Amino acid sequence: MNCNTKILIESDLFYIAQCHQCKKISLQYKNILVKFLPKYFYGFCNALERIEFKTMSVLSPQGKRQIVLNTGHHDIQFTFTDCEFDELRDVLQQVKIMLDAEKLLQQPQA
Ligand SMILES: [Zn+2]
Repeated sequence: MNCNTKILIESDLFYIAQCHQCKKISLQYKNILVKFLPKYFYGFCNALERIEFKTMSVLSPQGKRQIVLNTGHHDIQFTFTDCEFDELRDVLQQVKIMLDAEKLLQQPQA
């Protein structure tokens, strides 16, 4: 249940970490912590890059414009305002670059 994680990135709203053992990536947003297998994390990142807030956002019951994203778990969804969505995209982009760099370093030298 508990992973031995290292922090990849932290921002005002988000926190992303990876487990040394199982390699699962945790994304924390406010009080919600969602864990992804690396391949699903990449899928989540890639899906986000194609989403436009303007066209995908909806009006919440409280009258706020927000975007609703699947977490990969039934019945649990994230909701983000425009600013939060921008921040999320920014941290995910940075984490992806870090993970890609790590992968390159782990490859045996030719
Ligand atoms: Zn783990």
